[in-house]
Amino acid sequence: MLPTIDTHCHLMNFDYLPDQYTKHLLRNKSELLAKFIEEEELREGTKLNSILKLVDEIGDNNLHKMLNALLPKNFWGINGVIDNLVKKGEFLSSEYIKESGFQPGERNVNIYVPLMMDFIVGSNITKVHNSDGVIPYVLQLQEIAHISRTYPWQIFPFFAFHPRRKNALTLLRLAVEQNGFVGIKMYPAMGFYPDFRGDQGRKNNEIDPIINKNLEGLYSYIAEMRTKKDESIVLPINAHAQYHATQGIDLKPGETLDFTNVMNWDSLIREYDLKINFAHFGGTDFLKRTSIDKDEEKSEDEIAKEFSKNTTDNILALMNRYNSENNKQIFADLSAHSYCLKDGNITTKYFSHINYYLKEGFPLMYGSDLPVIAGETTAKDYINTYEKNIEEEYKENFFSKNALEFLFHENTIPANYLNFMKFSFDYGYMDEDPFSNDVISKHRWVSEYIQKNLYA
Ligand SMILES: [Zn+2]
Repeated sequence: MLPTIDTHCHLMNFDYLPDQYTKHLLRNKSELLAKFIEEEELREGTKLNSILKLVDEIGDNNLHKMLNALLPKNFWGINGVIDNLVKKGEFLSSEYIKESGFQPGERNVNIYVPLMMDFIVGSNITKVHNSDGVIPYVLQLQEIAHISRTYPWQIFPFFAFHPRRKNALTLLRLAVEQNGFVGIKMYPAMGFYPDFRGDQGRKNNEIDPIINKNLEGLYSYIAEMRTKKDESIVLPINAHAQYHATQGIDLKPGETLDFTNVMNWDSLIREYDLKINFAHFGGTDFLKRTSIDKDEEKSEDEIAKEFSKNTTDNILALMNRYNSENNKQIFADLSAHSYCLKDGNITTKYFSHINYYLKEGFPLMYGSDLPVIAGETTAKDYINTYEKNIEEEYKENFFSKNALEFLFHENTIPANYLNFMKFSFDYGYMDEDPFSNDVISKHRWVSEYIQKNLYA
């Protein structure tokens, strides 16, 4: 039985989010809250406690559940949020699991791909102080590695590479070579162009020369790892690709569009043979009903709708350009699409598109974007909607095969992950040998994907 893979989630709590981003997140979740919170307050970062009280007053249950799950004290240990996610599929604290009389979804997620996020650089914090409510980025990396060790064969993390971070390359090496990270998260909406050479990129990235220098280093590193003797690794990239964004804190959504444009990646893909998952597949804004008044400026909804359509079309064009029967390089995940659960008509329209693309062989993948969707819906309702509406014959590709091809180049679990498992056990970080029959038999798919000559 092939594993079901959630290709896009984030294992984070309030320790990972500077206060400014916490409020940014809240604002996107509730229009009512947005009415009470001024943009300026979000940027100053002083009103968090009063916001939490306000959520209580409003009685927004999903939102309150999400905030509760993001409290660090509810996060760790048996029956903590991470444990509940891996074992029960919900990003919830146990208090809410109990309260809801937990019922599992119709499909179990076997593998999670948590993506780090560099909110620290994104919010222009130069030095981390506890008063910013955030732990250092390198510590976040170590905590994610700890989660990988706790749940062997179930967590395959991506390191978020923000090229404005001075030591981004050092931390990338630490993540890949010593902590088993299998891919790279890129978030251009945080204020950079992915291409350090492009005419379009050059002008803007040059404001901060470290960006281009780090980007060049990144792609060289990917090439270096790919051609490494004996243990070559193909590091896939997850690139944000929709209008709605957790953008750089000093940017408005409309100011992110040039950065997010997926065509910025075109010549990079060609030159560096990149493997990319365009996260969100352009988003669900294409479904929105908007009225266009010719005399007035375009509304934000109209801009989002147009951007969504163009982005999806461009991703499909890149898939046509770079994917062949035997070699797929361009993928897309459908994470954070909870808008498609809204009402019957929207759901029908959405899935007629998705099933059509799957029929045409475009490698779309399941992704949730937990905990981001947790403010609107449960993970169970989210995955059940896909289980119910994806046509039977495409389910294997959508939930498993495409993601396996994206993560495990040539059907092999990357050597750096295997090494990480091996030395984590050898050095006493893990109680049980992840290569023992006992452990492997719980994750049946693994034996097919291990390089047998090295580890069997
Ligand atoms: Zn995400």
